[in-house]
Amino acid sequence: MADEKEQLRYDPAAIERKWQERWAADPTLYAAEPATSNKPKYYVLEMLPYPSGQLHMGHVRNYAIGDALARQMWMRGYNVLHPMGWDAFGLPAENAALKNNTPPREWTLANIAAMKRQFKRLGMGFDWATEITTCMPEYYRWNQWFFLRMVERGLAYRKKSKVNWCPECATVLANEQVIDGCCWRHEETKVEQRDLEQWFLRITAYAQELLDGLDKLDGWPEKVRTMQRNWIGRSEGTEVDFFLEAQGARERGSKGAGPERIRVFTTRVDTIFGATSVQLAPEHPVVAAFSAADPELRAKVAGLLEEQTKAREAGDVGAIDKHGVPTGRFAINPYNGERVPIWVANYILMDYGTGAIMSVPGHDERDFEFATKYGIEIRRVIKSAQEFEGSDNLPFVSEEGVLVNSGEYSGLSCERAQKLLQEAAARKGFGNAAITFRLKDWGVSRQRYWGTPIPMIYCQRDGLVPVPDEQLPVILPEKIEITQQGGSPLARVPEFVNTTCPKCGGPARRETDTMDTFVDSSWYFYRYTDAHNAKAPFDPAIVKYWFPIDQYIGGVEHAILHLIYSRFWTKVMRDLGLVKNDEPVERQFSQGMVIKDGAKMSKSKGNVVSPDDMVARYGADATRMYVLFAAPPDRDLEWQEDGVAGVSRFLARVWRLVTKYAAPRSGVLDEADGNPNSGAQLRRKLHQTIAKITLDFEGRWHFNTCVAAIMELVNEIQSADAQLASGEVPAPVVRELLRTLVLLLAPFAPFLAAELWEQLGEEGAILRAPWPESDPELAKEDEIEIPVQINGKLVTVVRIAAGAEAKTMEAAALADEKVRARIAGKTVVKMIVVPGRAVNLVVK
Ligand SMILES: [Zn+2]
Ligand SMILES: [Zn+2]
Repeated sequence: MADEKEQLRYDPAAIERKWQERWAADPTLYAAEPATSNKPKYYVLEMLPYPSGQLHMGHVRNYAIGDALARQMWMRGYNVLHPMGWDAFGLPAENAALKNNTPPREWTLANIAAMKRQFKRLGMGFDWATEITTCMPEYYRWNQWFFLRMVERGLAYRKKSKVNWCPECATVLANEQVIDGCCWRHEETKVEQRDLEQWFLRITAYAQELLDGLDKLDGWPEKVRTMQRNWIGRSEGTEVDFFLEAQGARERGSKGAGPERIRVFTTRVDTIFGATSVQLAPEHPVVAAFSAADPELRAKVAGLLEEQTKAREAGDVGAIDKHGVPTGRFAINPYNGERVPIWVANYILMDYGTGAIMSVPGHDERDFEFATKYGIEIRRVIKSAQEFEGSDNLPFVSEEGVLVNSGEYSGLSCERAQKLLQEAAARKGFGNAAITFRLKDWGVSRQRYWGTPIPMIYCQRDGLVPVPDEQLPVILPEKIEITQQGGSPLARVPEFVNTTCPKCGGPARRETDTMDTFVDSSWYFYRYTDAHNAKAPFDPAIVKYWFPIDQYIGGVEHAILHLIYSRFWTKVMRDLGLVKNDEPVERQFSQGMVIKDGAKMSKSKGNVVSPDDMVARYGADATRMYVLFAAPPDRDLEWQEDGVAGVSRFLARVWRLVTKYAAPRSGVLDEADGNPNSGAQLRRKLHQTIAKITLDFEGRWHFNTCVAAIMELVNEIQSADAQLASGEVPAPVVRELLRTLVLLLAPFAPFLAAELWEQLGEEGAILRAPWPESDPELAKEDEIEIPVQINGKLVTVVRIAAGAEAKTMEAAALADEKVRARIAGKTVVKMIVVPGRAVNLVVK
């Protein structure tokens, strides 16, 4: 007896070790078939991790979702590509180098090895033959190659610009990496503004296409699409030139030396007769021209610029306390020849629109606030189309109106006036219809070591010279002293910096900036399809088979950066003739966070749960299945260790159930036919469960309720244990129940499913076994007849589903025509429902 008990104990550590070894020995198990396969393809991808050295619970969640999907698609007969790699460049490697005196490469590769072990221990079904490590020259040489193609097409260029600088990182940050005025990595470090020469990628060339494409991405969460729309920020409007008023006699002689007009962008040209000032950004060139000979103005402008810089550093220019100074100069409204004062204001940004606006305080909240503060005239030029309470108040910002005090345009609707005013501007040469985007070009220069070297050379004679393709990759030197001061560490490596000009052969210097790591992740998923290609980033024919990605899964924090850059990169590759698809990803899914005690798990909060600990205590299957069970995948998951223990106990029950009837010693599966009617209810439950889980995999992704449905099924089978044990339920039915249960479990608890599959005597990998199909006839609920009595007399019989609840019986009885006729005009005093038996009504 003791031996038998021992045999029946669920030992996840032993089972999982056994299958981990088996899987490691069979590299074809999780490998995709070549692109010539006749099977339908399915590319499921989870975002690749940064190799910090430790998977965290958020990773486990991300990968458990993707792995469940990949496994189910394998079982459905698809040719599945399910790869994994490492986003291996980036600053933490340099920080670790400083702290531990370990070279970044060594530190990174050791972390990758550790995390790969974790992935395998968790049973994630990745095809490691296509693994990518972005810090390896065989990968980053293609970043350089793409960069050169972009230089050739004017899509990569260099310009001086204002940048966000994190003193702690000692590098430039993208706008999106500044959070509340601080660095995204250093929550306590204020970001500074600096002027630097930088490399940019011209993502704005694709702004309209990136925006339009969002309408077609039906398989993306609306939330992500909205975030991208706002980020691209398209506005339609008009550019109009206000002429600078001619100066006094003293300057008249120097005509033509200075600027003659100020170009403003407005979305409301219909309000231009209400413009009572022009406002310029402190850095506007016209301001520089005005203040050149006016030290007092220059000092005031410097003050405004400082306020703006501070507000930028605080991360919220919108909330700035608005200040301005009049320049004493005037501009001429080109539509009516009116003189309006020119001001400089701290809230106007040089890098947004044209750096100049017309201020219309009667019809704009912000202008109204500014004009009220400084006593600038506020004028009404739009009247509400319909009078309503408050329609006389200013500012009146609605476009549902009619122009007044607007010369020949008075009486027109706002919409009509906008069109005519635009046409007039174009005809007379002082403006045009225009579109602006909030999206800025992508600054990719980083003054750090651990990234892709930018393949450009500076020659005294030839200027900027691209590194020729045949000299790629420009290898990152390994011997380097990492510090976080004084700009790029590469600049202090003479062997790297000093080179020969490819054009003239003279001495030249290499670019020492490296690329933003978002470059690496913008196209890595193409490389997976052809990971070892040494002649090209990939073979277009292979990419054509696999793309677009059928399902991409990752955190919502990547909604705007990574997912916009990837879309941009795909469009560039398409225009280079490398890919046919316009978009990289067909369906995108953003999973929720894993939180504990109400907060995101983080070292500083001390609420981190280590996946290794959970796996050691409860097994990989229980940990993965808990993560899927504890919350719908798109919601935040509140970690409860009790929950993991509960799932582990459930898996132990499955283990006992299946081994009890699978083991030859019980003999049940080979015994007599049993009662053909017995087990019908169990089969119904089984086929209902198959239908539910299959449907969920097709898009609803309620994996939590899938796991719950499997638990219910197991409960039902266990409560019929006596009928199973006695042989009353026919052997083929028992076999169908157990076999299907194990198949349904395979995406969620792959180790246990593989083990039980073998114990059931099945041949081959469960991953290659067909996913079960639900028989709708078997899944259908039986109907039973329920007598309905009123005041003790049988009135009718209603048909309802077997096992229906009391509420359903009540409703069915009250909906019956005969019952309704009998109780019409009377009061139902009492209803007695005997579940599955009868309904009795007492009426007066
Ligand atoms: Zn920082
Ligand atoms: Zn040269």
